Amino acid sequence: MNDYFAKLNKASSSKLVIKMKQYAMIQKVPIMQDEGLLYLKQLIHFTEATRILEIGTAIGYSSIQIAEMDSSIHVDTIEREENIYHVALENVKQAKCESQIRIFVADALEIDLNLLEKQYDLIFIDAAKAQYIKFFERFEGLLRPHGLIVSDNLLFHGLVTTTEKIESRNLRALISKIKEYNEWLSKNKKYQTTFLSIGDGIAVSEKC
Ligand code: SAH
Ligand code: MG
Repeated sequence: MNDYFAKLNKASSSKLVIKMKQYAMIQKVPIMQDEGLLYLKQLIHFTEATRILEIGTAIGYSSIQIAEMDSSIHVDTIEREENIYHVALENVKQAKCESQIRIFVADALEIDLNLLEKQYDLIFIDAAKAQYIKFFERFEGLLRPHGLIVSDNLLFHGLVTTTEKIESRNLRALISKIKEYNEWLSKNKKYQTTFLSIGDGIAVSEKC
């Protein structure tokens, strides 16, 4: 987003949020960008979503800020890395959001779906970028009719649209996976999807 708008957009600046942001920067944890998170929160507000499933907790940065919007909001979030899960738990405790956020330590592609709720209003996909089609297909059955699936990092720091040659083979493979997801999503007739250049590029897909 351009710097002018970035300055006008007001992200949360609570002590804990600032602390989590600093931690994420130092430890290189890819937390959601301000604009993307502001937009996601607004979507949640507009659609009155209260049952939210997040794939990719990291340190709990996005889930805490979503939970803090309203006490009626409940977030289930899945994280596969044990170490970062403990950091998230501690942050949730500090935010006093324990009753609103359930963190599952598991690989989202393997977690027993019976542990989760039967239905969610919104599913937020923000984990391993190469697996987005798999995440989508695995969890879409838990989405209520006309519920939303929001996917993050679809521009991948601008690398998805760059014309420059990418030297790293792994990076090239990842970028082509993200492109594959974007095109798959765009053609998916069960959803009405809007791709937005907000934050690192997000897609909002409404189940028809
Ligand atoms: N949503 C967070 C950021 C998540 S970063 C925020 O904005 O604050 C992505 C996280 O997804 C990482 O912590 C990574 O360990 C986790 N992850 C990646 N693949 C996963 C998988 N298959 N199952 C569960 N978690 C996964
Ligand atoms: Mg992200």
